[in-house]
Amino acid sequence: MYIYTVGVVGAGTMGAQIAEVVSYAGLPVVLADIHETLARRGVESVRAIYQARVDKGKMTPEQLEGKMLLVTASPNLDGLHDVDLVIEAVSEEVTLKQRVFQELDRLCPRSAILASNTSALSISAIGAATKRPGKVIGLHFFNPAYAMPLVEVIPGLATDPQTVDDVVGFAESLRKQPVLVKECAGFLVNRLLSPYLNEAVWCLQDGDVSIKEIDQDMVSFGMPVGPFALLDTVGLDIALEVARILHRSYGPRMALAPLLEALVKAGRIGIKAGHGFYDCVSADECGRDQVLDDLMQQVRQLTGRQRKEWTRSRPLLAMVNEAVIALQEGVASARDIDLAMVAGTGFPNEKGGPLHLADRLGIDHVLQELEEFRQSLGIRFWPAPMLRRMVDAGFTGQAAGRGFFSY
Ligand code: NAD
Repeated sequence: MYIYTVGVVGAGTMGAQIAEVVSYAGLPVVLADIHETLARRGVESVRAIYQARVDKGKMTPEQLEGKMLLVTASPNLDGLHDVDLVIEAVSEEVTLKQRVFQELDRLCPRSAILASNTSALSISAIGAATKRPGKVIGLHFFNPAYAMPLVEVIPGLATDPQTVDDVVGFAESLRKQPVLVKECAGFLVNRLLSPYLNEAVWCLQDGDVSIKEIDQDMVSFGMPVGPFALLDTVGLDIALEVARILHRSYGPRMALAPLLEALVKAGRIGIKAGHGFYDCVSADECGRDQVLDDLMQQVRQLTGRQRKEWTRSRPLLAMVNEAVIALQEGVASARDIDLAMVAGTGFPNEKGGPLHLADRLGIDHVLQELEEFRQSLGIRFWPAPMLRRMVDAGFTGQAAGRGFFSY
């Protein structure tokens, strides 16, 4: 099915960015919200994204006006009555999304595909609220959508294969990199990123190491920003919510770092609140942070402390292990897992992604290090069974010529 007209519901942060991406690819897009003012504000946000391009000399003012002709505001869902595809980007609340999907189901042409940009909610549950679950799918863009190449395509239990093909083709027509992900909590990128971030917080709690030192070390590994700078940007409240969803689904290996909860309780939820892990605008200006020190003391008294020297292996192997478990479950192929982490999180391209990293380190070495962490830090480091199978069969990675990939 050729997708020619697109609707976006929810003209907030993601809705506006997605409308920009769609119009940039040359397709007309209707941006709908619950009120005229909100829909118009969304259209103005689209204009602001284009204006930044003009300011950088990447686009002319005439091109900007040409693109803006493709973007229309709608004060309600009625404006979406004749679109081929709707991308829903309303607030992350399952009952709200189900209500919106029911209304879209009633309003939109029978042939229209209804996609959700949800970060973590069940696509199957959203689809079940409609009379067309075969045409409901997850289409997860990353923030900022105009810069991040990755989109996760997540079929629900009832999604038709044709819907999947249509949406993959649509994402490619936006010049995005679609990765097909089997539905699971956190989908792929958040499922792998969350244990990495959570483990960085455990390391801070346990070690004689500062947030700045950890961030700097992960940047020297090749990450675009350190885990604490990233948490402050994403919002600690959102990161905690994702971590809770993952914990509920996957159990003890996603055990929440208590310091993350303590910071959220104290209102330090990141840049949007003026402070999060960092209590300053720029990490370079950060001095002593008494509040963080006190919270850390309280948490250590409550949960005890596994005094450990900082090693980047802890957060990295938490991510690698989850990547292997996701691979075992068939959530995505090894190639797509690595591609998604490079395109969706900025995992260093030259290291190829978490599974290529494991191959380079040696699967036997990864298994041994996870075992050591399991003994000293607990069962959240229980190695993925596939690692042991690989070692037993001589699939020990790059040096052996075979691991997750062939060399
Ligand atoms: P947001 O709060 O910025 O925007 C939500 C918009 O939805 C608001 O403008 C609100 O008025 C509108 N809305 C609420 N109810 C509505 C209804 N019934 N009909 C029409 N519009 C309605 O939220 P956001 O950060 O853009 O997130 C939107 C979705 O995208 C969520 O599912 C979120 O999980 C997901 N997401 C967010 C990010 C991110 O970094 N912000 C990244 C990826 C995915």
